[in-house]
Amino acid sequence: MFPPCFRILKKIITNFSSSSNLLTCSIDNILLTTSNMSDQLLSLFAPHYCINCSKSGEHICGTCRLDFVQTNPSVCYRCNKLSEGNQTCVPCRSSSPIFSVDWAADYGSAAKTLVARGKFGSSRGAIRAMAMIMHQELPLRGGIDLVTYVPTATKRVRQRGFDHAKLLAKQFARLRGIPCRRLLHRRTQAKQMGASRLTRRRQLKTAFRPASVVHAPTVLLIDDVVSTGASLEACARTLKKAGAKRIHAAVFARNRG
Ligand SMILES: [Zn+2]
Ligand SMILES: [Zn+2]
Repeated sequence: MFPPCFRILKKIITNFSSSSNLLTCSIDNILLTTSNMSDQLLSLFAPHYCINCSKSGEHICGTCRLDFVQTNPSVCYRCNKLSEGNQTCVPCRSSSPIFSVDWAADYGSAAKTLVARGKFGSSRGAIRAMAMIMHQELPLRGGIDLVTYVPTATKRVRQRGFDHAKLLAKQFARLRGIPCRRLLHRRTQAKQMGASRLTRRRQLKTAFRPASVVHAPTVLLIDDVVSTGASLEACARTLKKAGAKRIHAAVFARNRG
């Protein structure tokens, strides 16, 4: 639950401060904290409802969570070969900047519905449910200095009212107790849906720029869905050029399509 007054307040302040990323970032943190506090307070009087079956209690109930859980073995996200801890295998590592990719669910019908509700239905509850599933299912990785995310195209953020990947990353980072910061900006707004792997790679080569120098050695990069991994790789390359040494990625669902 996210009280409408916070959404309106955030919109006013964000519009007012659009020229100041720093101020917007601080406001985001304040509003996220305030929203989480108000969530906890409100849940005393009005409990959360499962986003999938409406049962009261949590953003996603234990029964529905089982629909999402992936039981597949640990593999390299690039070539599907068995690989301990979802690490990128040695041959793939020569051309991938990502050390490992963890995912909580397969991109089946249940996961598709939840992602669509979050992304296209602008449901913050769905995004929080995704973050909770990721928190409960993904392995604990030590040594992560900072969490960040694949920034959404500005046009999409305006349409949806929020950046779903940013909210997912912030919620997940809060649950794990790791700081979360914006480290990337999207330079191009090129449409990627339906494009071939080669075309996507070409489009993504210059799609991101660093927000600043990255002082954190190990960064966890968050996105909702991984398909070819091209977006994650483009972000990871940019982060490494900006100073990061090792990039892990974590997503809600993996699309093997
Ligand atoms: Zn449920
Ligand atoms: Zn591989």
